[in-house]
Amino acid sequence: MTQPRLTLNDGRSIPQLGFGLWQVPADQTARVVQDGLAAGYRLVDGAAIYGNEAGLGDGLRQAALPRDQVFVTTKVWNDRQGTGETRSAVEESLARIGLDAVDLMLIHWPCPAQDRYLDTWKTLIDLRAEGRVNSIGVSNFGVAELERIIGETGVVPVVNQIELHPRLQQSALRAFHAAHGIVTQSWTPLGQGKSFTAAPVADAAARTGKSPAQVILRWHLQLGCSVIPRSTRAAGLAENLNLFDFTLTDAEMAAIATLDAGERTGPDPAVFS
Ligand code: NDP
Repeated sequence: MTQPRLTLNDGRSIPQLGFGLWQVPADQTARVVQDGLAAGYRLVDGAAIYGNEAGLGDGLRQAALPRDQVFVTTKVWNDRQGTGETRSAVEESLARIGLDAVDLMLIHWPCPAQDRYLDTWKTLIDLRAEGRVNSIGVSNFGVAELERIIGETGVVPVVNQIELHPRLQQSALRAFHAAHGIVTQSWTPLGQGKSFTAAPVADAAARTGKSPAQVILRWHLQLGCSVIPRSTRAAGLAENLNLFDFTLTDAEMAAIATLDAGERTGPDPAVFS
């Protein structure tokens, strides 16, 4: 199955749909990665803080796909920000995963109170030039932090990975991303299932014969976002990949838009550190 890809602002591209590894137990990660790749995913979203980068690497090796056919993301955790720390954190992630370079390295949270994200960004720019990471981006950044790193370095992140689901639709941030060529990538895309029984989702599921999760993931794709749902179940991984044989109508997209409640499941990035 050919999956859609999104063009990044550095000339590379990313599969629009992937799967995430948050809260996947370390001893199950290799199996989940193998299941995901066998099902057909080609984008894996990891992070140092998830404690399962070694399992991610094991799963990649066991799947034995050509390296250029799998897009691997990981992230620099908050206590490793700053020039020297970021450099060693990236090297440690590469060693744990067992790769010479990852496809995308993100700053996991801006942590504005510690004020080290600009130095962290400059270090990622250097590591990209050195070939240790192919593309660089951020996660949980707001407009103020994005404007600062772009203004200071002239380098625009390829991705901002943010909490996004029907109850937190992030329209202002998505508009900023669109204006600057930044791909919006949705984390916790299923929103803890809180919209599964909402009429706009349930009605679209009934019309299309799809599950509420599939309707919501399809909504992310039609918004133009990259999306990285997680399932530890092989059947869940397969279900979440099966999004390309139906389309939501404009009316269904508009109905889901009404579910926005500005409601986070995770911390507020402006204060989290
Ligand atoms: P998701 O929105 O992907 O939801 C995962 C939960 O939904 C699990 O409990 C899973 O259970 C269940 N689920 C998965 N598929 C289905 C389905 N088809 N029907 C019903 N239930 C389903 O949440 P995450 O918070 O994991 O977010 C996805 C990824 O985003 C993470 O794994 C991580 O990679 C990334 N992330 C990034 C953050 C950041 O700060 N940058 C923060 C949080 C997440 P089961 O396993 O039993 O299927």
